[in-house]
Amino acid sequence: MIMYDINQIRTDFPILGRTVYGKPLVYLDNGATTQKPRQVVEAISNEYYNTNANVHRGVHFLSQQATELHEASRETVRRFINARSTNEIVFTRGTTESINLLAATFCQSQMQAGDEVIVSTMEHHSNIVPWQLQAMQRGITLRVIPMDDEGNLLLEEYEQLFSPKTKLVSIAHVSNVLGTVNPVREMIATAHAHGVPVLVDGAQSIPHMPVDVQALDTDFYVFSGHKVYGPTGVGVLYGKEKWLDKLPPYQGGGEMIQHVSFEKTTFNELPFKFEAGTPDYIGTTGLAKALDYVSALGMEQIAAYEHELTQYALGRLMEIPDMRIFGQAKERGGVISFLVGHIHHFDMGTLLDRLGIAVRTGHHCAQPLMTRLGIEGTVRASFGLYNTKEEVDALVAGIDRVRKMF
Ligand code: PLP
Repeated sequence: MIMYDINQIRTDFPILGRTVYGKPLVYLDNGATTQKPRQVVEAISNEYYNTNANVHRGVHFLSQQATELHEASRETVRRFINARSTNEIVFTRGTTESINLLAATFCQSQMQAGDEVIVSTMEHHSNIVPWQLQAMQRGITLRVIPMDDEGNLLLEEYEQLFSPKTKLVSIAHVSNVLGTVNPVREMIATAHAHGVPVLVDGAQSIPHMPVDVQALDTDFYVFSGHKVYGPTGVGVLYGKEKWLDKLPPYQGGGEMIQHVSFEKTTFNELPFKFEAGTPDYIGTTGLAKALDYVSALGMEQIAAYEHELTQYALGRLMEIPDMRIFGQAKERGGVISFLVGHIHHFDMGTLLDRLGIAVRTGHHCAQPLMTRLGIEGTVRASFGLYNTKEEVDALVAGIDRVRKMF
């Protein structure tokens, strides 16, 4: 099963060696955020210690060095997702900001009252509320792709949602609750057959599988650095150049302009048109280091390793009496949502925490999905590249112990 040296890898993540309440930490909340390897933290502190200067605007040595690092990071991102050009890589604060940027600029320039955006039942609030904010302002409507009880989107119903009013499809690649890996390539082809572009929310796919935006033919793809072993506060909006060219700027300020006068201001070229103000150039260095880190392990290897671990975990969890797992899709990733008997998810999470096991509880920012499932929340274990079978065993033993207390 081990396709890389897991013990060696774990030493790269010092936090994994700590204890909580005197117990070894079992960190199974990777869907919320991942831990950072030493290489990322060191790259960040190294830049602060040695190369810190504001980018793009300086003639002095440090500023030029910082600019080179920042733009090299953009190239690293481009390569990682196989975008055609660095013009298509816009740095943002994360998935949420990327979607808000797109919702605001796309709806402003490409949509009119009565037009529609298609999303799915299993979206994170970040891929619902930005569209609702636009809906309130501009009178556009959301159409929702339904799913079956296993957590597969219903593709025939999806196709029925298209009409001349459909202007965009915006869907998660991988559900942060069910683990479902949606057939985005097929869904993109369907949308394109109707002349409609697609945004893929890659928050839960980028850390777990190879992503090739050209092979997917997606028009937009967004993700957060912190979920792929990089720092918080930095993320990416990928957009095909032909689309980004059509969209107006999002925020105004330094960097995004070409020339400013009180009479008329002109805007910078891509991708800077969307990057107002000082970018998180230290964050982009950290993100690039994180992408280098996972690339060195190999995204295929990580996917295969996590797949085996997830299969093992599903098997072990099903041994527990009264276990209900939400999400049994044909294609699934390493996110497992569950409830045991009548034990409240919050109680389960709190008691597991006392055993050193970090899981997430609640609605996971997907309340419409909870409504569809007829529940308030779940306990969620989500795996990263450094988790082990022993940690799965600890989770199963922990759940069993909690179950016996009730
Ligand atoms: N979309 C999905 C599917 C997510 O899982 C998350 C975070 O959990 C987000 C969007 C939002 O990401 P962020 O909070 O990093 O912007």
